[in-house]
Amino acid sequence: KPDGKTRVLILMSDTGGGHRASAEALKAGFEELYGSKYHVDILDIWTHHTPYPFNQMPKTYSFLVRYGFLWRAAFNAWQPRIVHAPCSTVTAAITGQRVSEAFDLYQPDLVVSVHPLMQHVPLRIMRMRIKAGMQPPTNFATVVTDLTTCHNTWFHLGVDRCYVATDASLQQALRLGLAAGQMRMYGLPIRPAFGRSFPAKNKLRKTLDMLPDKPAVLLVGGGEGMGPVEATVDGVAAQMGADCQLVVICGRNAKLVDKLRSKSYPEGMHVVVHGFVTNMPELMSASDVIITKAGPGTISEALICGLPMVLNAFVPCQEEGNIPYVVDNKVGVFEKSPQRAAQIIRRWFGEAREEFQEMKARAKALGKPHALFDICRDLHTLAPAATGKKSAGKAALAAA
Ligand code: UDP
Repeated sequence: KPDGKTRVLILMSDTGGGHRASAEALKAGFEELYGSKYHVDILDIWTHHTPYPFNQMPKTYSFLVRYGFLWRAAFNAWQPRIVHAPCSTVTAAITGQRVSEAFDLYQPDLVVSVHPLMQHVPLRIMRMRIKAGMQPPTNFATVVTDLTTCHNTWFHLGVDRCYVATDASLQQALRLGLAAGQMRMYGLPIRPAFGRSFPAKNKLRKTLDMLPDKPAVLLVGGGEGMGPVEATVDGVAAQMGADCQLVVICGRNAKLVDKLRSKSYPEGMHVVVHGFVTNMPELMSASDVIITKAGPGTISEALICGLPMVLNAFVPCQEEGNIPYVVDNKVGVFEKSPQRAAQIIRRWFGEAREEFQEMKARAKALGKPHALFDICRDLHTLAPAATGKKSAGKAALAAA
């Protein structure tokens, strides 16, 4: 470590867009708080440091979530510890050497997982390395990036710290045997740009190819451009036409971008179609309402921006609990029908304007822009090289 910096290794995988967004948020949080004291690496161990077929995990996920029943079956089959713990032991035995090479390469002083499948295997391999004298004891923390109905693999008993966003996740962790002292509840780590103040909406809109004064609907299909995006565009066009402007984010779904750009829209309706965007904070700040699938990252970002939301789809299991979270907190509704979703928004922009303003205020109050920095400050206390304290590395040593 010639630069003398404290090295944090964040383990993530591109299953959906949320894990990478959280990893990038943490990296930015460390940079803002501690400047050059830290060097943060973001790594998908499965893709880059395991052999076939383990390295196909992101592709397998994309395939399974397209067929909801397959994903539901896989999610539930893997839930009991009696199933996932022995499978992880076998996986660690097969992938051990390649994963161990990653630890040699990155030499982390602190390991942070933002993915449900990055606890059991890395911890087991870290334990073997520590016992063999291949690395010093190293602390391990999990940042849970789901909001409510989390998979049980998020919660490993031996971690040094586990961060959750809601009381539902906290209770789940405690039920599964984690101790209250291991847990911290701050909120999801959202990229710091979401907490910044932007120019007034009409000025901001000009820089984003939006009209300064028309109500703006932001339609987001998640990182993969999933969900009924095209049908929703049609619904909004039919219900509101020139009375609103529509910004559509198709994520990595390039075919959808082409299709929506070549479509014809009602006279006077302003439609902007994007692929994967890196300026989500600006686009959300410039909009009035969001239609999205129930992704935890997108919901948390929309709350910070004070955007009431219409949830129109969800990934079975891990996103199901996000719907009551939004509805019960009165910051949005769940509506699968594109026509009815558009009717609801038309009401919010019209006769239900007062109710809409109240939702905006509640969304803003529920958003947690400081969660990222709270998590980074607490992680800092686990980084022995930065704090001068000796690492307990309890997690790696206790990993079962
Ligand atoms: N996102 C982005 N650009 C895009 C589409 C999505 O930055 O073009 C980000 C979005 O802001 C959020 C994440 O990708 O942070 C999606 O995470 P979420 O948890 O909502 O859903 P997932 O894609 O993981 O299912």
